[in-house]
Amino acid sequence: MSDDDLVPLFGQMMTRDWAEALIAEQSDTVVRDADGSYVRIPYGSETFRTPIESRNGPCRHCSTIHGKLHSFDCDYEQCPKCNFQLMTCDCEFIGHEWREE
Ligand SMILES: [Zn+2]
Ligand SMILES: [Zn+2]
Repeated sequence: MSDDDLVPLFGQMMTRDWAEALIAEQSDTVVRDADGSYVRIPYGSETFRTPIESRNGPCRHCSTIHGKLHSFDCDYEQCPKCNFQLMTCDCEFIGHEWREE
């Protein structure tokens, strides 16, 4: 089994490792920090942008579909704590401390 295999997920073909990561992401519905916990915002429910395309097709960054969670570092995921773009906001969540360069 190679990581380059293409497998179907959400009506598309994608690499196996990406599909597995996206499936795992769907059970990671809550993020936490020292102040509390926050329910993640699925594709199509963002308010920092107008995700009209969620009804027409998958997320163009992470391939998730309407109503499903993005890959956590997706450009289009909204931060459930500050409501800005998660990728660029300053919040840090336990287990997701990827921002350190
Ligand atoms: Zn996405
Ligand atoms: Zn934030």
